[in-house]
Amino acid sequence: MQEHVTDPYVKQAQKDGYRSRAAYKLLEIAQKDRLLRPGAVVFDLGAAPGGWAQVVAKAVGAAGRVYAVDLLPVQPVRGVQMLRGDFTDPQTRAELLALAPAGADLVLSDMAPNISGIADRDQRLSFELAELAVGFAAEALRPGGSVLLKVFQSEWVEGLRADMAELFQRVSVRKPEASRGRSAEVFLLGSGLNKTLAPSSAQSP
Ligand code: SAM
Repeated sequence: MQEHVTDPYVKQAQKDGYRSRAAYKLLEIAQKDRLLRPGAVVFDLGAAPGGWAQVVAKAVGAAGRVYAVDLLPVQPVRGVQMLRGDFTDPQTRAELLALAPAGADLVLSDMAPNISGIADRDQRLSFELAELAVGFAAEALRPGGSVLLKVFQSEWVEGLRADMAELFQRVSVRKPEASRGRSAEVFLLGSGLNKTLAPSSAQSP
């Protein structure tokens, strides 16, 4: 609690009107990797309370489209279509895919399991969400599109990275300043989807 109150990103978020300090993680990566542009079609997976959605909606502007999903309700964000649902449910993923039949430019996932404190369990659940996000991205993105996803460091991350390397021209690891040093999270960025290799996975359980 004390860490939260004194956190400069929390204070900055209050000042800038962002709903979460997480907004600064996306802002930093998006700026470095030029992820967001006006007119882009973007999925935001694990969107509550809406910090990333705010950043994305502003960046893509009126010509863009933002589709977001979370287990939790999210207060509306102008320019963002929110879906409440469980991303691990194939039906939810099918509903999301149907929103952008012409394909998306970017898939973002900041999804995280409820932290139990049991490292093995938390890491495994985080990996499973990340793996599903990669499968969804392969299905949802246009050729050349990108995915940025959060995953907790674990023995499985290297395998996930290797799987992404089969699908994307480049795979990079990002650890933005706003991601607290002791936090186990890292972000994997897959850029340049090679569509011919995309598996048909979004419908599978
Ligand atoms: N990016 C958000 C922001 O900037 O406000 C913060 C996201 S928060 C770190 C992680 C979110 O992932 C939580 O709101 C949680 O409900 C969501 N989440 C976890 N598992 C999910 C699932 N299976 N389906 C949908 N959302 C999920």
